[in-house]
Amino acid sequence: MHRRLIAPGALAAASLLLAVPASAAAYQPGAPGIGDPYYPYYGNGGYDVSHYDLRLKYQPRTDELEGTATVLATTTQDLSRFDLDFLLDVSEVRVNGAKAAFATSGQHELEITPAAPLRKGTPVTVVVRYRGVPSTKSAYGFTTWHRTPDGAVAADEPEAAWWWFPSNDHPSDKATYDVSVTVPDGTQAISNGTLQSTSSRLGWTRYTWRSRAPQATYLATLAIGRFDVTTGRSEGGVPVVNAYSRNLGDNDGAARASVERTGELVDWLTGYFGPYPFDSVGGYVPDTTTGYALETQTRVYYSPRQFANGSNTSVVVHELAHQWYGDDVSLKGWRDIWINEGFARYAQWLWSEHEGEGTTQELADYVYASHPADDPFWTVAPGDPGPDNQFDIAVYDRGALAVQALRNEVGDDAFFAILKGWPKEHAYGNASVADFRAYAEKVSGKPLDALFDTWLFQPSKPAVSAARTVSLARTSATVPQPKSWKEIAATNGVHGG
Ligand SMILES: [Zn+2]
Repeated sequence: MHRRLIAPGALAAASLLLAVPASAAAYQPGAPGIGDPYYPYYGNGGYDVSHYDLRLKYQPRTDELEGTATVLATTTQDLSRFDLDFLLDVSEVRVNGAKAAFATSGQHELEITPAAPLRKGTPVTVVVRYRGVPSTKSAYGFTTWHRTPDGAVAADEPEAAWWWFPSNDHPSDKATYDVSVTVPDGTQAISNGTLQSTSSRLGWTRYTWRSRAPQATYLATLAIGRFDVTTGRSEGGVPVVNAYSRNLGDNDGAARASVERTGELVDWLTGYFGPYPFDSVGGYVPDTTTGYALETQTRVYYSPRQFANGSNTSVVVHELAHQWYGDDVSLKGWRDIWINEGFARYAQWLWSEHEGEGTTQELADYVYASHPADDPFWTVAPGDPGPDNQFDIAVYDRGALAVQALRNEVGDDAFFAILKGWPKEHAYGNASVADFRAYAEKVSGKPLDALFDTWLFQPSKPAVSAARTVSLARTSATVPQPKSWKEIAATNGVHGG
């Protein structure tokens, strides 16, 4: 959703910096990026984080955020220096208890030089003290920190963490979290996982949240504002925590009529995806002017605008589907976005069928028929769309069409076994499109390279002959728009969505 222009010159300069002669020292600086070709500077090299402990204080009136982050990591190489990704103003860094030198570089790098170099394979504790006004900070010319009339929200993809905590900002480095935030009395702080405690003192209230399962940095969320919090438990036993801004106006009823069905919908999805992978579920609707929703782990972010035309359970199904496809099993690199969006969109199609508003086959036929061969829609390959098209509509609609093609190729028994087995196969880990293909081949016993190539990787509309083999390819004249189409389309505009 953001345009990133990374000058070739900047890449060349970084390469030069890394070209330290091998003889100079056994200990080398960690790379400023984790190695994702879509986003060369996202994440960092040389270490792996296991836990973030964030102890923060936020003042809604001034947008001042201050706090201490304690990051537990293990080195993966001999390190003379390493980076975290961060934008706020740092006052002190300690590594294993000793003060460390630090500097900023690039768009969002915090370079940390410990007093003593770090040997590969050793545990490291990094403490970062910081403060700042997040809304005044930008990288690549944008900010994803949203101020609201009563607070602020951090929820975006692929970048949100830089504005509120220092991190190894890439989904391939997942970690557990404790997020503890002090806000003025009368204001709430919402984050992922379970609320462990609240306490009030001298006009300030502290909210402490815990995420016990590994979580990608972009799936960590923070919302501060005046919320009405509802709690409950799904019929299947999953604790539910939802939160609604007290300022939703006309959208309040529709937002609640959608998000209050979280427990019912998460139970329904377990029928397709297996047991819910986390110890809490829910969503929040802050007083933002954005248009998207995002699958922030266990606590989904919804823009009020998602409910401007009335309730929309389809968007809730989409974001809850991501809890399995995207959050439990996260992508390895951002090119693997189909693993997230193809399946979250397909879950919306399953819900449409359940509601009697169009079968998955009818929706697939409609997508195939409604985009003529010369539509640029077909030039986007969902299997590797490129950073500029990462959240293109084709990743969603052509992505779900590919899922239906797979289903028709392998048959329902194998298909639903794949759908349910995948989250278990890679539970709390990371996987790629290639991993998915290998898994689908294993379960179905069928070679699927041609199918995946045709539906996910060719920058052109699959030929009628290819479509016929997977029961698609009716002409547009014979394919009416399914009833659910508009409600599903209303969840576009997202990325995230
Ligand atoms: Zn999505």
